Amino acid sequence: MANNAKIVKDFEAIVGAGNVMTQEVDLHAYSYDAAVLPSQTPSVAVRPTTEEQLAQVVRVCNEKGTPFAVRGAGTNLSGGTIPPKDGVVVLTGALNEILEINEEDLYAVCQPGVITAKFAAEVASRGLFYPPDPGSQAVSTLGGNVAENAGGLRGLKYGVTKDYLMGIDFFDLNGEMVTSGSRTVKCVTGYNLPGLMCSSEGTLGVFAKLIFKLVPPPRASQAMLAVYDDILNASRTVSAIIRNKIMPCTLEIMDNVTIRTVEGFRSAGLPTDAAALLLIEVDGHPAQVQDEAAMVQKICKEEGVRTIEMARDAAHKDRLWQARRDALPALANFRPTCILEDATVPRSQMSAMVDALRRIAKEYNISIGTFGHAGDGNLHPTITTDKRDKEEWKRVEAGIDAIFKEALSLGGTLSGEHGIGISKAKWMVDETSPATIEWCRGLKAALDPKGILNPGKMFWG
Ligand SMILES: Cc1cc2nc3c(=O)[nH]c(=O)nc-3n(C[C@H](O)[C@H](O)[C@H](O)COP(=O)(O)OP(=O)(O)OC[C@H]3O[C@@H](n4cnc5c(N)ncnc54)[C@H](O)[C@@H]3O)c2cc1C
Repeated sequence: MANNAKIVKDFEAIVGAGNVMTQEVDLHAYSYDAAVLPSQTPSVAVRPTTEEQLAQVVRVCNEKGTPFAVRGAGTNLSGGTIPPKDGVVVLTGALNEILEINEEDLYAVCQPGVITAKFAAEVASRGLFYPPDPGSQAVSTLGGNVAENAGGLRGLKYGVTKDYLMGIDFFDLNGEMVTSGSRTVKCVTGYNLPGLMCSSEGTLGVFAKLIFKLVPPPRASQAMLAVYDDILNASRTVSAIIRNKIMPCTLEIMDNVTIRTVEGFRSAGLPTDAAALLLIEVDGHPAQVQDEAAMVQKICKEEGVRTIEMARDAAHKDRLWQARRDALPALANFRPTCILEDATVPRSQMSAMVDALRRIAKEYNISIGTFGHAGDGNLHPTITTDKRDKEEWKRVEAGIDAIFKEALSLGGTLSGEHGIGISKAKWMVDETSPATIEWCRGLKAALDPKGILNPGKMFWG
């Protein structure tokens, strides 16, 4: 990279030499993320420790025309932080302050590098609730959550990150601060820029401050584990629960492949002969919880459940949930390569999608373990394979293609929560239209004429 030495000097002048990395051994850690994609080592990684430093770093990249990617924890599953060739990685880990938690107006202001679970715990210690809970929350950052519009287990009742984002202050390519949104419950001043920045996958601006809505926590909850001999009965139960106007805070499904893998990973007494499990939790006022738990039990029975187990106390509930928390690590442990997909369909099409996944696994002779947020129609078909086996890998790629074609044909979407990044860019036009792609490229070009802000993502498949 021609201007490497000069840009390193500029960065060192801004953040100090200790916060600029140029050695291969350090840079390798920023060459990949959680997607199964080829890595790309950046030329430099820089770690601003103040908002002002972040602005200056952005300005220098722009002046030099050097492409860069902003990186939180690097846990995204779509290649969103794989750096551009000869590019810079800007790390937000040191921008990790919770600046304000306002208990009267129910909002919080955070820097982008705050860890999601730490924030949720701090909010909870004040008797309030921040619901978005991605499975990666122990390490993921709020900046990454906003850029990917992350969801989680509570999405069905409480929504996803965008539902809590009240405002963002972000830097444009000149390092000038753009402010958007407000600390008020209502705000219709100008364009909905927080809406635009949420899901922007680091391609439109660099977040400096995030304002989140907080809510009161539910007073009671009841978790249940329902076991099925037929996965279609499980998915019919999901539809029946919603049809009966019950909105559980969590409604998760695990298929037989996942159950067996989880049980092999950590023996938890799961029924390995079951076709599917539903993990269901209702929450709210204690009387409502009691009423809804009884209704859910009745619905499960009507839809042919084998057994249903009610959590007796917090420890029992935690044990039930451990199975779901183990799903990904267990599958990832199973074979050398694990691809966690994210196919989402309208809830009414859940059974059809579950059926299609079984068919696709058979047709392409690949192993697909399916679990996910059944209540949202958001399934995570997880393919375990070995990328080094070229023949198998071809079948896996064809199988993934078939999964997304099926999801779209059922009126679904390419991603319920993991984003587009590099990995799904090639299908964008199938979900949208050529005009949509051109419009979005035009927007990006107007805001980033040199094309240096996380280039090659989303609309360049
Ligand atoms: C085990 C596991 C479980 C997961 N479970 C879930 C889940 O349940 N739900 C879910 O939605 N996702 C899940 N994910 C995906 C991932 O954790 C989320 O997308 C998360 O939001 C990424 O946060 P991050 O800090 O790692 O962001 P990164 O991966 O570092 O970055 C993601 C995107 O955000 C951009 N970005 C980061 N900071 C900024 C900033 N300050 N300004 C502008 N752009 C920025 C990056 O450029 C990139 O495009 C999971 C991932 C793993 C590995």
